[in-house]
Amino acid sequence: MAEKRDYYEVLGVEKTATEEEIKKAYRKLAKKYHPDANPDNKKEAEAKFKEVNEAYETLSDKQKRAMYDRFGHNASQGGFNGARPGGGYYQYSSTGFDGFDGFDIDLDDIVSSIFGGGRSRRRERTSNGPSKGADLRHDIEITFEEAYMGVKKQINLSREDTCDVCHGSGAKPGTKVDTCTMCGGTGQIRQIQSTLFGQMQTARTCTACGGTGKIIKEVCENCRGKGKVRKQTRISISIPAGIDDNQTVVLRNEGAPGNNGGPKGDLYIVVHIKHNSVYIRQQNDVLCDIPVTITQATLGADIKVPMVDGTTESYRIPEGTQTGTKFRIRQKGFTSINGKYRGDFIFTIVVQTPKRLTKEQRDLLEKLAKTMNEQPPVRKKGIFG
Ligand SMILES: [Zn+2]
Ligand SMILES: [Zn+2]
Repeated sequence: MAEKRDYYEVLGVEKTATEEEIKKAYRKLAKKYHPDANPDNKKEAEAKFKEVNEAYETLSDKQKRAMYDRFGHNASQGGFNGARPGGGYYQYSSTGFDGFDGFDIDLDDIVSSIFGGGRSRRRERTSNGPSKGADLRHDIEITFEEAYMGVKKQINLSREDTCDVCHGSGAKPGTKVDTCTMCGGTGQIRQIQSTLFGQMQTARTCTACGGTGKIIKEVCENCRGKGKVRKQTRISISIPAGIDDNQTVVLRNEGAPGNNGGPKGDLYIVVHIKHNSVYIRQQNDVLCDIPVTITQATLGADIKVPMVDGTTESYRIPEGTQTGTKFRIRQKGFTSINGKYRGDFIFTIVVQTPKRLTKEQRDLLEKLAKTMNEQPPVRKKGIFG
């Protein structure tokens, strides 16, 4: 199956497009590709029209668009059911379009689930077969320092869980569960229909059992037959050092319970990092401004540089250091999330001109001024612009 086109590409807009721009682009394209407007080329126009509508449906909805930006086409409704448990622990999703790095994904599965699986090579599944539970998402905010050092967090989560009383069957313990006679336990009713295009087999969910294939005589009172109940759960998560804003930590099997004995879904913890007024992160480097006095900058000095972990590093700045000069302390930045390398700590000198002087300081400076006895050279225009 061909790879799905990027929705922004389909509408011909930038990823930063406003709602209005998206609407405008959609209207134009919908008009252009409307099947009625393309009588000579109906089939192709129809496909385009469908593609445009699908892209608009996602990009015009704030929430869907945000999910799409983050997870691409994998962000199908109801979670990321195409994702299979793989070796990945976290993923880089700050750019949004690089998919699930580190995940083992069968693209065909995702695409067929988006198109309803009508004509996919996928094994036909009856609706009462075991299926994986929905994946859940939880957002968490941590500090810059926590991201730097790594942190353990406890989160409270309200999620569906398997009912303890019936263990997910939905039947009152000790009562009988019969196989549905309408569908023979498959959960689906198949029909052969004659249509213009020949014979077609259709399948619809069995109404007698609701697709479960089972008839419950007496429902479990705890879950009212659903087999699941909403529970408040406390979960500990370990956020690795070096995690960046909008990256995701995945907890396998902490999502919603599966159906008919299927595995649980996964829990995606999306990490947001609070703004820090002192430090800035640039890839794995830490940037910060360090104020020094005019005498320190002029004469040179040993200064104490505050590191992100609360320690300080001594650093000798040379005499004649200008404001704006950058110094680098190697290997004191963020550890890359795979632990393979470490960024640097880069600080920029900001010379502080004193605002208030004692009488003695003023006398000394005036004496100094006399010895210098010249105007500073005129700077070229634009430097301070
Ligand atoms: Zn129950
Ligand atoms: Zn049935």
